[in-house]
Amino acid sequence: MKMSNLFVQTLREFPSDAEVISHKLLVRAGYIRKLSNGIYNYLPLMWRVIKKVENIVREEMDRAGAQELLMPFVQPAELWLESGRWEVYGKELMRLKDRHGREMCLGPTHEEIITSVAREGIRSYKQLPVNLYQIQSKFRDEIRPRFGLLRGREFIMKDAYSFDADEKGLDKSYEIMAQAYKKIFERCGLETKMVQSDSGAIGGSVSHEFMVLVNEKSENNAGENDVFYCSKCDYSANSNHAVSVLNPAQTDGGFTHSQIVDTPCVHSIEELSEFLKIPQTVICKSLIYVIDGNYVLALIRGDKTVEETKLMNAFSGNEIRIARNDEIEEIMHKSGLNAVAGFIGPKGLKDIEIIADETIKDLKNFVIGCNINDKHLAGANWGVDVSLPEKFADIRLVEENDKCPDCGAPLKVTKGIEVGNIFKLGTKYSKPMNAVFTDKDGQEKPFVMGCYGIGVTRTAAAAVERHHDEFGIKWPLSIAPFTVIIVPVSDRDELQLKTAQEIYNTLLEHNVEVLIDDRAERAGVKLKDADLIGIPFRITVGKTITDNLVEFKNRTTGETDVISPEEAIKRILQLEI
Ligand code: ATP
Ligand code: MG
Repeated sequence: MKMSNLFVQTLREFPSDAEVISHKLLVRAGYIRKLSNGIYNYLPLMWRVIKKVENIVREEMDRAGAQELLMPFVQPAELWLESGRWEVYGKELMRLKDRHGREMCLGPTHEEIITSVAREGIRSYKQLPVNLYQIQSKFRDEIRPRFGLLRGREFIMKDAYSFDADEKGLDKSYEIMAQAYKKIFERCGLETKMVQSDSGAIGGSVSHEFMVLVNEKSENNAGENDVFYCSKCDYSANSNHAVSVLNPAQTDGGFTHSQIVDTPCVHSIEELSEFLKIPQTVICKSLIYVIDGNYVLALIRGDKTVEETKLMNAFSGNEIRIARNDEIEEIMHKSGLNAVAGFIGPKGLKDIEIIADETIKDLKNFVIGCNINDKHLAGANWGVDVSLPEKFADIRLVEENDKCPDCGAPLKVTKGIEVGNIFKLGTKYSKPMNAVFTDKDGQEKPFVMGCYGIGVTRTAAAAVERHHDEFGIKWPLSIAPFTVIIVPVSDRDELQLKTAQEIYNTLLEHNVEVLIDDRAERAGVKLKDADLIGIPFRITVGKTITDNLVEFKNRTTGETDVISPEEAIKRILQLEI
């Protein structure tokens, strides 16, 4: 392809609305253009990258025995009503009506559709296992579309669904997918970590995410997930799912008797601990949340943080947020109390579910809110001054240096971009949708399902997050839009132009994806653009061509060699792509 024909407009500056480097670079290097919030045009360079990622995904999925199909993007509400998700899937689901007033939605994911496909197509255990996948645009009306392709509203996903006769079959299908995923990301030039995760809105019991780890100390904050991993063994989990063993701490407040103490204007655990001169570990923290419209009081040890996804899951909820002040006021009013945030406690609260984290069990002679402003109860004990809640769950956010649940070594934390995930769904969809097959024993049974997603466009953006420098993108060879760019330094020197053209022709003959910068631009502009766009190899034809020498540059390593054009061609032809 001639650069003069390539549809690309590089920009001098980064776009002002971009926060993370992949977004900045993909816009500036002419790969994507925003159409609307979280909705992008994939321009020719981007489309080449996307197709490469898709092909890697396709090859590995096919190799793993999956079959590609394509399901409709617009889906009828009926199937979502059957699965029960029409009511519970939040505002991310883009709902619309057709001209007859029938409710439809834009596909954010396809469990319902694939389950209906299997229900109609699979009758007998003899047809199992089956794994079906597609690569397609999805739409999710994300609350905060940001970070460019990392979190769009419209994005391309590969979604696969496995159908098995039993759990054992599912375990096998799941393992095959886990292996295929490792290969896919490796081939895309991305090192990933497979971490345990929460199953979220899709449901099911076991799930893992594939995370591209990014350095949280770097200037960008593209890693939206905290990943905890063991410094010694394989344990690793998303913070929304991670568990840990706590280090020993003082849990006895040492008060000799219980009493209401003055704690004027003390609104945080830190302030309370300083004011009473006690460690945070002898305080019981009380927080009010709203889960799917219901009030919940969560109790946890003062030095610990509530992990909202864990708390939400303890109530099988779909939406969670901390209660607003006016809501706290309403709860207090109903209970005949008037405390504000900072002085809340479980005693005397009405119409609210109480849940406690395991960390409060050991507390003795502790401090807790008593629903009186500017006061706390000190020296409290469970069962004496405050009743121990009935409902317990692990709702605690793990912290760095807590102990690994598997081996006891300290846990570490890092940021990650989730590029893919795999779920064991079990019969979550097949049961309510009555998707059944006839088993060996003649019995009708629901399919045991798994689902497996890869963010194709997010994977491409994650590759930019991992592979770039101050000059631009450094695409991994396997997903680069072109393998090599040939740059004649002068746009007039005949020998330079002729040699560049010859190298170009030879590479083209060998089906190499090659660009030639034939624009009447200054050398500086051409070289800068080549670096910005991030083509893995550059052959620069300059003055030394009179000695039959060109510059051969590896964009990834930055290494340059001065070699003959023939040698440069040979090096490109030897690449394993
Ligand atoms: P996240 O927690 O990041 O919102 P998710 O749990 O909603 O992701 P899935 O529903 O399992 O993700 O989707 C499968 C894959 O699709 C994800 O692993 C991710 O790579 C990709 N993906 C999900 N949402 C987006 C988005 N808004 N933009 C780009 N890619 C996305
Ligand atoms: Mg999501």
